[in-house]
Amino acid sequence: METIVFLGIQGSGKGTQALLLSQKIHYQHINIGDLLRAQIAAQSDIGKRVKSVIDAGNLVQDDLIFELISSSIDPACPGIIFDGFPRTKVQAEHLLEHFRVKTVILLELTEKIAQIRMGARLNCPNCKATYNKLSKAPKIDMICDECGSNLVQRDDDSPEAIQKRFEEFRLQTFPLIELFEERHLLKRVPANGSIEDIFAEVCRKLDLK
Ligand code: AMP
Repeated sequence: METIVFLGIQGSGKGTQALLLSQKIHYQHINIGDLLRAQIAAQSDIGKRVKSVIDAGNLVQDDLIFELISSSIDPACPGIIFDGFPRTKVQAEHLLEHFRVKTVILLELTEKIAQIRMGARLNCPNCKATYNKLSKAPKIDMICDECGSNLVQRDDDSPEAIQKRFEEFRLQTFPLIELFEERHLLKRVPANGSIEDIFAEVCRKLDLK
């Protein structure tokens, strides 16, 4: 199945851009972090195993990620947009072996700006809408526009977990940039603009009107 991948440091806007793209081209958006958080919310066996790993900012083991992905794919969709996968060399190899990768979009952002953005992130625990105090603030402070619930910060958006997640990105995910570049799959998009400008650039890189 044709696949587009969003790669980038936490806070670079992968989720936002992947969602916009899935609405435009009707590919299935697979956000691994969301899948894992749904398992935690459902208190499933997987959820119980991964909660402490995620809250500490560590990566979940590869085989569990593969299991989650294969059980989530909708074969009726014309393609897949991965957001948050792959994050390790083993995952990248799995991706290349099992999916027809069209393009890997690298959203480029410095750690400093990513950290500021992540500290401003807010989520709705009820309807899962996402906000950011800096770029997409709710109309009423700390209240979800969609369903009126109180907004919260993610457990792994604490300063300690953010540092650990950046470290994982540097060690495990950063080397994938070279791997995809060598295969001529990588397209770089600066991620320090408005959501609309970044999306326009993503579409340009994908030759979409
Ligand atoms: P995210 O919502 O993308 O920031 O992901 C939240 C957390 O889920 C990460 O910090 C990891 O603990 C875990 N996670 C998400 N994607 C992956 C992946 N591809 N491999 C391993 N762990 C992952």
